[in-house]
Amino acid sequence: MKKITIAIDGFSSTGKSTLAKQLAQHLGYVYVDTGAMYRAVTLFAMENGYIGADFFDKESLVNSLPFINLQFHFNPELGFGEMYLNGTNVEREIRTIEVSGFVSKIAEVSEVRAKLVEQQQQMGKGKGIVMDGRDIGTVVFPDAELKIFMTASPHTRAQRRFDELQEKGQDVSFEAVLKNVVERDHIDTHREDSPLRKATDAFEIDNSELDRDQQFAKVLELVNLRSKTL
Ligand code: C5P
Repeated sequence: MKKITIAIDGFSSTGKSTLAKQLAQHLGYVYVDTGAMYRAVTLFAMENGYIGADFFDKESLVNSLPFINLQFHFNPELGFGEMYLNGTNVEREIRTIEVSGFVSKIAEVSEVRAKLVEQQQQMGKGKGIVMDGRDIGTVVFPDAELKIFMTASPHTRAQRRFDELQEKGQDVSFEAVLKNVVERDHIDTHREDSPLRKATDAFEIDNSELDRDQQFAKVLELVNLRSKTL
């Protein structure tokens, strides 16, 4: 079957990465989590004192962009690529609630977006890729053969993220997670550069009521249909 590009966009914690990983594994495709890239830039900004509770030195971050090297290294045990920032594995550090608290502010910066989008487009050149994020079907791969837009109620999404963080042993309240989910949705949908929106040719999936397997089966059907019509 001909390899295609699959773009998965949607709100925070809609299970995009779970679905993308399942698809990539099943199809033998490469999976790219673009949120991890924005998170890694955020971690860099935090570590260098460019962003904090009441300040954001955007200029210094933009000047430092040439010194930020982002790479995914495939981990065969996990079955997907882990995020490396300037040679260091930062998978764990980028998933904290602190990084989640700043990441949407970092993702508003056009210079940051331009750098990451270029790298993402390079990674997708050979097709056979599943990429998830907020602007994949609209900006990164407007010509993707299959676009999925995922939604679920804020409460369902916050509960999922809360369970994930609890599992990782992070001490955080459900209210704090819900607040973060709602705030990020607001910034992500209202920013000037590449706001989160559904591409006109995307299939929308509301997975509030679907379990993992039902959702996977539904999308796999779309992949097969799409691949056959090429
Ligand atoms: O997908 P994840 O929740 O890890 O993404 C973290 C944040 O990175 C999002 O809330 C959004 O602000 C930003 N992001 C983005 N564009 C993407 C992927 C993520 O703006 N393609």
